[in-house]
Parts: sequence; structure tokens; C-alpha cells
Amino acid sequence: QATVVLPQGPPGTFDYLAPDEFADATRPEQLAESGRRVRVPFGRGGRTVVGYCVAVGVKPVAGRKLKALQAVVDPQSLLSPAMLRLTEWMAGRYLCPWGQVLEAVVPSGVRGGAGTRQVVLLSAPTHVAARLATLDLPEKQRRVMQALVASPKPLAVKQLAARAGCTTAPINTLRKKGLIEAKTERLDTGELEQLHVQREAPRELNDDQRPALAAIAAALDGRRHQTILLHGVTGSGKTEVYIQAIERVVSFGLQAIVLVPEISLTPQTVGRFRARFDSIAVLHSHQSDVERHRHWRRIASGAVQVVVGARSAVFAPTRRLGLIVVDEEHENSFKQDSAPRYHARDVAMQRARDERAPVVLASATPSLESWQHARAGRYRLVSMPRRVNNLPLPAVRVVDLREEAHRRRGVGAISRPLHQAIEAALRDGGQVILLLNRRGYSTHVQCPGCGYAVKCPDCDVAMTFHKQDRCLLCHWCDRRQAPPTACPDCKSAAIRYGGLGTQRLEAEVNARFPGHRCLRMDADSMRRPGSHQQALDAFRRGDAPILLGTQMIAKGLDFPNVTVVGVISADTSLHLPDFRAAERTFHLVTQVAGRTGRSERGGRVLVQTFDPEHPAIAAAARHDYAAFAAGELPAREALGYPPFGSVVRLVARGEAEKTVEAVAGQLADALREAGLGEAPGGAAFRVLGPAPAPLAKLRGAYRYHVQLHCPDGALLRDATAGVLAKSRPHEGVTVTVDVDPVDML
Ligand code: ADP
Ligand code: ZN
Ligand code: ZN
Repeated sequence: QATVVLPQGPPGTFDYLAPDEFADATRPEQLAESGRRVRVPFGRGGRTVVGYCVAVGVKPVAGRKLKALQAVVDPQSLLSPAMLRLTEWMAGRYLCPWGQVLEAVVPSGVRGGAGTRQVVLLSAPTHVAARLATLDLPEKQRRVMQALVASPKPLAVKQLAARAGCTTAPINTLRKKGLIEAKTERLDTGELEQLHVQREAPRELNDDQRPALAAIAAALDGRRHQTILLHGVTGSGKTEVYIQAIERVVSFGLQAIVLVPEISLTPQTVGRFRARFDSIAVLHSHQSDVERHRHWRRIASGAVQVVVGARSAVFAPTRRLGLIVVDEEHENSFKQDSAPRYHARDVAMQRARDERAPVVLASATPSLESWQHARAGRYRLVSMPRRVNNLPLPAVRVVDLREEAHRRRGVGAISRPLHQAIEAALRDGGQVILLLNRRGYSTHVQCPGCGYAVKCPDCDVAMTFHKQDRCLLCHWCDRRQAPPTACPDCKSAAIRYGGLGTQRLEAEVNARFPGHRCLRMDADSMRRPGSHQQALDAFRRGDAPILLGTQMIAKGLDFPNVTVVGVISADTSLHLPDFRAAERTFHLVTQVAGRTGRSERGGRVLVQTFDPEHPAIAAAARHDYAAFAAGELPAREALGYPPFGSVVRLVARGEAEKTVEAVAGQLADALREAGLGEAPGGAAFRVLGPAPAPLAKLRGAYRYHVQLHCPDGALLRDATAGVLAKSRPHEGVTVTVDVDPVDML
């Protein structure tokens, strides 16, 4: 008998008979093994659907006659029992039907050979290697043979030529002489890259790193689940520590998963892992289904030691999981913004708990959630307060834009101190990074006469003027329209283009520092695949001394030659209607400041702000995470926000505003009743709303949200699930449920 979950169709599980004729001839006991997809009859009229078999059992069901399943779809199980447990947990945690979770977790790829290439791999036969010294060979051929014999693994032709420092000619001669053995193999792109890596040895750890590694090693050796929060300032050598921990994991014959933000999954990052491990797999969202599927099979076969990937790599089918690392654990991109709305860090924690593996959370600016868990003793905190090689953290100067504005009017985006710092850096041959977290040219277009502002008719937010395309663009729905020549309300022709975006900053930089090339990195300039990497490579080579861009330049980059970092406007994100606004600002400023001072040349940071006394900015200027947390946590606690309480956010959207509001209202009422009845102490369970969401209209749909707060997350989820199960769907209104939301707009 098989228990089946349907990805489309009603939630819940359904039991079917698994008749004998579906038994696998070679493995009869594996009939309808859990984790495979099966075709089952469902509903009236003999319709059949595909579902996931989540359990097989022999429990007889009294009374009811079960239908029989029709076919087994997958020749092998797609999901291990551990993965089935994890997805079931996710269904409960994120209030998302189990079937939908399963669909999201299993890659939809099919078998195929795309992305592989034939390569010729060379090796020296043992009998040749043994009498190498006695062979009479010309100099070049001798060098080739020596390089080949010295290599523990077969080498590709080009690779061998590079190691021997010669062309391919002597190699071909040696092949003809029969001194080199060649075999052809089909390798995928990852394995191909692996062929060309220069291996690196572990570094000698310093006094801060050694205890950090020891803490992780203790958990590894004990084969127990434990979470270690590795809090180390930017450039303190966190990556080196967890790579050495993974080396230990690999030496036990276990596998490790490293989760990094999508944006950090650069060749530079991946290269660091390739240089240290024989076999890694990289998983990211730009891979084709075919490619992804192939990686899955390789990982599942046990051939991969380390899986490096973005969010969804937490589901990598490692059979012997030894460790999960979540690097930059505070990053919002670990949260998925479509159902199932999971947070990869929390899923990693659950998975590791279940499979008895330790978890390392690494960050220079941990999320307040993780920090609080560490303070409360649930995680082990390991701190690395200094940079490697005794490099100091860069000095940060806060530039008060109120004073600047006072002194001179209409000066543009770059204050005088920042201008001088850039000038000095360029003079000394250093490089400069400028952060401005808004793309476009002008961020609002307004009539000074009557106050009319151009808004997207579908989203009700200000449209941004893009100078290159000479158009107004909505950053939420990508709607484009021509800029107005006159105010549609009062006909005035004096339309003002205000607000600063990266394109305008670029123009200003070009005007101020002529003759110095400036690279711009934002979502507009980085449309083509690979352009991100090209820009970073160009900057690394020193082709351009100035790099400006949005938050995509703030994180993880390691350019030793950068001596000045400028934050054009630190308070861009400070006043968003989001309880994490201060935390985000602190993270962004601290992370971008960390991009400088990474070599002997030193570096400094200038942070421009209208709010220099703001605790988030003041603490970031002092690189003082603990002070920021100490100031912010009591405020969160007073309001019952995470990490002191759980939040669930419901968003209703639809084209008829009144109906949307009414649906949100009904949900809120039902939740108020449910909550007050069940929560001990009643008042602890709070329902806020319904209210128009901060983004009140998006792509033509009105949005209303209801926020739920409760100190007890499980209670909150139960109450919400209960109410949602009873609520009827309304035509034209979609309700989404976000547990532990990160996006509050
Ligand atoms: P983080 O992850 O904390 O930003 P990294 O591990 O990337 O820091 O280290 C920053 C730089 O210092 C890297 O170039 C790394 O190779 C180097 N590094 C790390 N550990 C050591 C060490 N013990 N001795 C010398 N250099 C080190
Ligand atoms: Zn007007
Ligand atoms: Zn829009």
C-alpha cells in the first residue's frame, strides 16, 4: 500500500493499493518505493494524476476499499526518507501544501547529455613511469613526461602542456611513441573546470581562526548537531576556517553543503573551493533543468564532496551529510519569495538537526535572530574580531549632508570630503568603490507648479527616469513610457527631474574626474549574462579605477587595491516601512566598508548621510556590531518582533479594491477570534490590519495585508492554518501566506 501526495489537487495524503504486477522484477521489495512519483486514479471519470509516493506500508485499512495505483513513473527514488521528512516539515512550517513543496524541491530536469564534452585525458602507463630515468628523450619531451608522472590524476592535453611549459607538439610525439596513454571521457562543465585548477594548500591559521576551527571540529568529531555562529569581521578569514572544517568532513568520507547568496556565486568564490577539493558541484538558479538534474545525480551518487550553491542547494541530495555552512547568513536572498516561502538558513538548520550534522552560520553582520540565539546559548558563538595579517579595519568618516547642503547649494551627489578622498586615491593609483542603492537617472519626476508626480498606473509608485533609453521605467513591473513634455495637470513645461540614481551619479563622476574610467554595475547595466563577471574582472585588472553601483557591489568582493569606499546615501533604506530597516542599513554600510583596507595600502570609508546620529549608521561607522545589536534588540523585544516573536504576513491581492479589502478584513476577523480564544494570555497574539500594503498596488492588483504577531511561533502557525483551512476562496482575490516574512512591502 502506498501513501501519495498530489502536487496539484487537494492537500493531504491519499492511500492506494500497490498491486503486485508493479513490483520491480529485480527488487520486488522496492515496489512503489517512497520518494518516487506514481500515477494514480483521482476523482471521477477514471482521471489519473501524478503524485509523490511518500510512504509505503502494509497497514490494512479496514472498511474502505482502496483504489490501486496505476504506474510507477520514476525508475529510481527522487527523494530520500530524510528529504521526505524535511519537505513535510516545510509544509507545516511555511503553511504550504506538501505536494507544492515537493514540486519546488525536485528539479524538473530530464535525462540528457547537454553541457558535457568529450575530453582526452592523458596518463603515463606504470611501466613507462617506472623507467622514466632511463629513457632517452629530448628536453621538452622529458619535461612533459616528468609533469605527467608527477600528477596524481590524468591530465587534459592543454593542462599538461601548461605544466610542462611547452606546446602540444612534444605531447603528440610522445603519444605516437606509445609513451603516453590516452583515453576519451565525457565530462560535464564543472568537471572540465576542475581539470584546470591550480591546487592550493591550507593556510596556517592565526590565533583567532584556530579556536574557531576547533569549535567546529569538536562538533564534527562528536557527530552531533550543533549550530555555530561564526561572527568575524570582513576579511577575518572566515572562509578559510570553514574550508578547513570541510576538509575534515571530507576526510571522514562525508559530504558538505555550502550555501552562499546567489550574487556571491562568482568564479572567484567557486575557484576557491575547486582549489581545495577534488570534486565539487555548483548549483544555482541560472542552470538549465538538464544541468541541474545531472548535478543531482552526481551528488546523489556520492561522487561529490562539496556542494556549493545558492538557496535551493539546501536540498542537495547528499547521502552522507557531514556539515552545512551558510555564508553571509544574514542575507535576505536566502528567503524564497514564492511558495514555498522558505528561508534556506532555517531549512538548513532543520535538515542538519534531522541528519545530525553541525551547521556553521558565518557573517560579519549576523542577523539579529541568529545573534539572539547565540546570546541565549542555543548556538555556540565564535568571534573573530580582527582581520588577517594584522590589517586594521578601515577608518570610517561620516559626512553630514545637512551641513554640506547648508554650505553649498545644488552640489550634486558627491560631498567635498568625498571628492577630495577620491581625488587622492586616484592620484596614488588606488581604486574607488561608490555605493548608491538606486538605479536609473532621476528617481522622481515631478511638476513644481502643481505637485503632480509621474506614477506607474499599475503600481502606484514613482517612475524612474532612465537616461540611456530616454524613458520612464517602473522598477516594480517594468512598464515603460515616454517622459512627459508638459505637466498633464497644469500644462506647465517646467517638469523637474529629481532624486539620484546610479546613471546620474555616473554622469557626475565622469564630469568630476575626467580621464578616469568608471564602471557602473546595476540591474540595467548587467542585463547580459556574464556581464557581472566581466565588469568585476575589468575592475580587478585595474582597467577602470572607479566602480559604482547598487548593493550588488557591496558584498564579498575582495579587491586589495581599493583604498576609498564612498556610500553616497546611507539613509536610502533607513525609512522604509519595515521593522528591519535599521538592520539592513547597518548591514549594507558595514559590508561595503569592508571592501577596502584589504591590503597594506590601507583604505578609508566615507559615509554620506542626513542622519549621522542614527544608531545604525553610527555603529556601522565604528564597525561595532555588538553595539548595534544591543541598541536594536530591546526595541524589537518591546514590540514583540523577531527574534522575540514570530510574524506571519497575509497579503490579499486582486483587481477590485473593495473586494480585496473585504477578503483581508474577513481573514483578520477570523484570526482575531481564533487567536484570542487559543493564546494563553490572549493579548500576546496580535492581529494588525487589514491595511493597504506599503506597495498598495502592484501590476494592476490592489494589495491589502494583515500582520500576525505572537511570541509562540507554533501557536501562530496553527491558528493561521486553522483559519485558512476554513476560509473559502474568493473569486478574483489571491491570498498569499508568508511565514517569517523578510519582505514587508
Ligand atoms: P572572510 O571570509 O572573513 O571575509 P577570507 O577567508 O576570505 O575572509 O580571508 C580574507 C583573505 O585573507 C583571503 O585572501 C584569504 O586567503 C586570506 N587569509 C585567510 N586566512 C589567512 C591566514 N591564516 N593567513 C594569511 N592569510 C589568510
Ligand atoms: Zn503641474
Ligand atoms: Zn509598475
